[in-house]
Amino acid sequence: MAQRLKGKTVVITGASSGIGKSCALEFAKTQPDDLKLILTARRIDTLKEVAKEIEGFAKGVKVLPVKLDVSKAEEINSFVGSLPEEFKQVDVLVNNAGLVKGVAQAPDIVPADIDIMFQTNVTGLISMTQAILPIYKSRPDGGRGDIINIGSIAGREPYSGGSIYCATKAAVRSFTDSLRRELISTRIRIIEIDPGQVETEFSVVRFYGDKAKADKVYEGMEPLTGDDIAEVVVFAAGRRENVVIADTLVFPNHQA
Ligand code: NDP
Repeated sequence: MAQRLKGKTVVITGASSGIGKSCALEFAKTQPDDLKLILTARRIDTLKEVAKEIEGFAKGVKVLPVKLDVSKAEEINSFVGSLPEEFKQVDVLVNNAGLVKGVAQAPDIVPADIDIMFQTNVTGLISMTQAILPIYKSRPDGGRGDIINIGSIAGREPYSGGSIYCATKAAVRSFTDSLRRELISTRIRIIEIDPGQVETEFSVVRFYGDKAKADKVYEGMEPLTGDDIAEVVVFAAGRRENVVIADTLVFPNHQA
């Protein structure tokens, strides 16, 4: 791929595992010259390991691991201001951090799980977008940058037992569509990529650590890997400015 992202600064939320980590590695592999990566998540030690891995093979990439819980407004509020000068001019935001807690019928879902899913998947994504947009809008060339939201097939096709998670991802979809319309006259690109089943820690988190239950979800199919989604994310970010990969569903063959 042409190195269209040379010199750019990319923020990825939830970069400590799964799709977010794969995105970090894919940006670094395909755009190894003069790229800056800001990797965020709650597990700072894991982020530092990802940074070390990248610095091992991509000498031209600068990596900044930042501990950031997107469900905490105060952490997002101080995020941009705390960035070192050379990382401040963000060009791409990958809103990837997200989680699902429990598979249960709606009446049985506990309030704490509802709150954490909405705070992380919806409020966190919106607040990160609000934090980064002023950087895009204040550019002397009239405003430019990418927001890439990781939604889910669940936001399009709700399933029994996933009412809250599906609702959060439908909210992401709706927010993304509205934002694209609001910014239609600018050079800011609003992109949504919706994965189907991807084998990551996500599935184990969903079943509170029960791997046997998690693996059952993949019966009859070969789930995607985080790398499969990362390739699409980096492809979308790497298009020339007039091309918007606006809305993409990526799922494994055989997923019902
Ligand atoms: P993982 O569990 O592997 O990764 C989730 C990432 O989000 C981790 O890096 C985690 O980091 C981070 N995260 C979770 N909560 C927070 C928080 N409050 N603040 C900051 N970071 C947080 O799952 P995936 O890679 O699979 O998930 C990534 C995205 O893809 C999610 O939005 C998910 O909804 C979506 N998705 C996943 C699918 C799948 O089948 N796996 C299918 C469709 C969509 P840490 O714990 O260090 O904070």
